[in-house]
Amino acid sequence: MSARYMQPLRILIQCLFNGFVIWLGFRFYDFIQMATAVGEKNKLIRPAGIDGFLPISGFAGTVSWLKGGEINTIHPAAVIIFVTVILISLLLRRSFCSWICPVASVSECAWKVGFRLFRCNWRLPVRLDVLLRGLKYLLLSFFVYYIGVAMSPDALSRFLQSDYHMVADVRLMDFFLHMSHFALCVVLVLLVLSFVLRNPFCRYLCPYGALLGLTAMFSPMRVTRNAERCVSCGVCSQVCPTYIDVMHKSSVASPECIACWRCISYCRFNEALSMRVVRRFVVPGFVFAAMVVLLFIGGTMIGKFSGHWHSSISLKEYVRLLGK
Ligand code: SF4
Ligand code: SF4
Repeated sequence: MSARYMQPLRILIQCLFNGFVIWLGFRFYDFIQMATAVGEKNKLIRPAGIDGFLPISGFAGTVSWLKGGEINTIHPAAVIIFVTVILISLLLRRSFCSWICPVASVSECAWKVGFRLFRCNWRLPVRLDVLLRGLKYLLLSFFVYYIGVAMSPDALSRFLQSDYHMVADVRLMDFFLHMSHFALCVVLVLLVLSFVLRNPFCRYLCPYGALLGLTAMFSPMRVTRNAERCVSCGVCSQVCPTYIDVMHKSSVASPECIACWRCISYCRFNEALSMRVVRRFVVPGFVFAAMVVLLFIGGTMIGKFSGHWHSSISLKEYVRLLGK
């Protein structure tokens, strides 16, 4: 069965998640505005899902939990979302990047617009590309060493209970609402580059993507090519947003594969390419899509129903931290 429907389906799911994220952002903004204006009389509830924007908090909370602590009660949803995304990568490769992540969605939109305008996307020379791809692993190593190795359980616990961490969400919102000139320039440069290069932030700078890519290498699921059906037309390699030479592989193990299904969707030859578990069992597209959505929502639901979702920071504390 053709998998052409997978691209419209993936874009629909990206749009739904993006719409949800925008709605969350507005709800959080209203909550902070109201808490700043009326203090403890604020009747709005902080949307805990906003913790999804705090992957460092999620990582620190997970490390603290693994080192024998409890799931931190300051931003528990950050831990739940972080662990859920890691588990999704273990099973469904970096599907979080191509189906859910709002940064990757914007980036994908940009390079597609760039492709329409210029009839191509630029590709950096191979050596420079490899060198720059190393940056995200360097950033990841820094966080892993600093948070995972250098910080003792006590130091982690102090960080998680600190005022700084308590309002990390507010700081992040402030960062975007009142950007310094330098930060604005960096964001604009990345945005402009995204029109001519495919996903430069994800490919070169995102440590979260680096971690998910390394995790995905243990996934039993891979894009697999059937050499007997393949006519070596090269379309799969051309449409791959991460420039994997799919046509010359028997299966794609690269940590750069974001499980977007573009190669499978555009291959015209029946069963030449498919997503398979341990190279044998074919995974139908709609099953893969349903698993991405259900695992992400299911993970957050487990967090909610197990009482690890809403922050324990009281409104009084929040108001104090906001300087009211
Ligand atoms: S698009 Fe399909 S037929 Fe063409 S090279 Fe790739 S796997 Fe082979
Ligand atoms: S190999 Fe296929 S699924 Fe993986 S990133 Fe490239 S196009 Fe997407």
